[in-house]
Amino acid sequence: MPGQLHTCITLIEAIGQPLVVIDRSGVIVYGNSAAEATFGWRKDEMFGRAVASLSDRPGWRRTIVRALDSVVQDGHWSGELIVERRDGTRAAVLISASLWRTAQKGADFIIGIVTDISKQKRIEARLRRRVAVQRRRTADLEQHLKQQLTDVRLANRMLSKEIAERTSAEQKLRFQAMLLAAVSQAVIATNLSSDIIYWSRSAERIFGWSESEMIGRHVYDLVAGPRDEAMIADMRATVAAGRTWEGEFTLIRRHGTTFPAFVTVAAIYDEQQQRSGSIAIISDMTERVRDRQALADANARLQEVNADLRLSRDLLHTIVDNLDDALALIDSHGIVQATNRQFARLFDMPPDALPGKPCSEVCPTIAPILARTLSSGLKASGRVQMNRASGGQAILDVYSIPLGNASRQAVVRLADVTEHLQLEAIMRQNERLATSSRLAAIVAHEINTPLQSIQNYLYLLRSHGSEQSAEFLDLVSDEICRVSGLLRRLLDLHRPGDGAIELIDCNTVIERVLLLLNSTLASNGIRVEQRLTTPLQRVSGQRNALTQVLLNLLLNAVDAMPYGGVLSITTRSARETVDRRSTHYVQIVVEDTGPGIAPDLQKRIFDPFFTTKPHGSGLGLTVSRQIVEQHGGRLNGQNVPGGGAAFIITLPAANE
Ligand code: ADP
Repeated sequence: MPGQLHTCITLIEAIGQPLVVIDRSGVIVYGNSAAEATFGWRKDEMFGRAVASLSDRPGWRRTIVRALDSVVQDGHWSGELIVERRDGTRAAVLISASLWRTAQKGADFIIGIVTDISKQKRIEARLRRRVAVQRRRTADLEQHLKQQLTDVRLANRMLSKEIAERTSAEQKLRFQAMLLAAVSQAVIATNLSSDIIYWSRSAERIFGWSESEMIGRHVYDLVAGPRDEAMIADMRATVAAGRTWEGEFTLIRRHGTTFPAFVTVAAIYDEQQQRSGSIAIISDMTERVRDRQALADANARLQEVNADLRLSRDLLHTIVDNLDDALALIDSHGIVQATNRQFARLFDMPPDALPGKPCSEVCPTIAPILARTLSSGLKASGRVQMNRASGGQAILDVYSIPLGNASRQAVVRLADVTEHLQLEAIMRQNERLATSSRLAAIVAHEINTPLQSIQNYLYLLRSHGSEQSAEFLDLVSDEICRVSGLLRRLLDLHRPGDGAIELIDCNTVIERVLLLLNSTLASNGIRVEQRLTTPLQRVSGQRNALTQVLLNLLLNAVDAMPYGGVLSITTRSARETVDRRSTHYVQIVVEDTGPGIAPDLQKRIFDPFFTTKPHGSGLGLTVSRQIVEQHGGRLNGQNVPGGGAAFIITLPAANE
């Protein structure tokens, strides 16, 4: 061993760290004392031994060869090894081996510094064991915890489910309680001894007792007056049989008033399906009884109204059947639906033969008027002629009136005016005769005066001889002229063709009538005031008829002023506007200063045959009004302030 090595060994000995020096073939060339102590080999036993032969443990040799190769190759190797001591015990060592190259070729050594880590290893092993134990414990604990967690979760889930079920049950209960509180009926539950165990809010409201006052009380305390035991027994039996009982009781409120109640009772059962009591639902019937009464009253009233209606209907039927006018109900297709007796009589048919027939077949002349109403929904009227089944002709005024309902029906009213028109004609004839006889009297009076004068002049002519004859003859001639003038005027008055329709200037008619009555008016002390508007719009009509109207009015004025007065005649134009359509009129006002018309007679003066005069016909105003109306006008009479009467003729102006 070189000297250098010795120096190093001396140093290494002093360190106390086991150190082994081996040659490249793995043979131990040196081991220090610390190595001796660690491995149990004496130095001399160690030296010359191959490291690979120090143990028989499998794999030892291979490990050593690899470690030696690594050191030779890399110059260094370190690793942990389990080495066997001389006594066969094993020690864990950490070997850090380095290649020590000497200057001598091929004389390289490997120095291995050994650290006995057995203790450390033991500690480590112990620690590892502890850690393993700890791990196992931790794993057990984790397992245990996991199990517990699963259990807790399971329990939690079950709990949540239970809570949810309970919440839902509570909600259901709350809802049911709310429902019970909300219903208008009182809800009362009793146990089998009929003691109250539930008293709803509506029960409080209806009876006036609070829940705390009623719980435990006997339910029959609520029944007013003596109990109907039979009914209660029936109720108990019904409920005991599991059915629902319904009936009416008179119940009492807290403040003593009673009320009719409709009670429904049913059994209640406990969880074991054993009957535990009853539940009663009580409706306050006061309102309903009142309503029932009101309904009965209304019904009675309705029956009365029905009876009235039946009476009215019968009355109406009687009236309709006994009307002079013929009535028929016609549907929208012009088919007769119903008629009164007069209608059937008019067409000489049995009443039940008419319904179902077309109106145009029954009476073709009225069909066009009816068609106007059916198509337009408006009233229509007209005058038609028809041949009676019994012979002769009838004149009918036809009025077709819409019924105003959606079905577009119409009522046809036929007024047989044949007789009426005949009577009117007779009346007019009579009045004409009456007027003529009054005129005749006036004319006779007028003619009589000149005739008397003529007679006087003829007498004078005879007694005075021829000397004054020319003068008397002139006077006679004058009187004759007066008579012929009077007759001419009379003729003038009636000259135009009878009945012809013509355009008439009312002023000229007035002037002619005044001319005719001139001397009569004068001899009665009547002053005439004319306020005639010229030019005046003409009217279309019959001159004779209008002359007769004026004659009637003027002669009435003369009659009203036996001691004289003022007769004023005014003509004027007037205009009326209806629905933006203007109509022009001519008005003639005949006004006198007589006594006027007594208020109680004013409504009657136009009635036929009404007269206050000893020899009056009472037809003058009736006929005059008819004539004016036939001309499309109006005739009205009224008193004038300050005395006297005024008659106003209003005639539509001709559309020239
Ligand atoms: P008569 O002249 O024949 O009586 P009228 O029909 O002409 O018939 O008149 C009916 C009645 O009206 C008269 O009797 C009279 O009472 C009243 N009467 C008519 N004109 C006047 C008048 N100008 N002043 C007062 N009363 C009148």
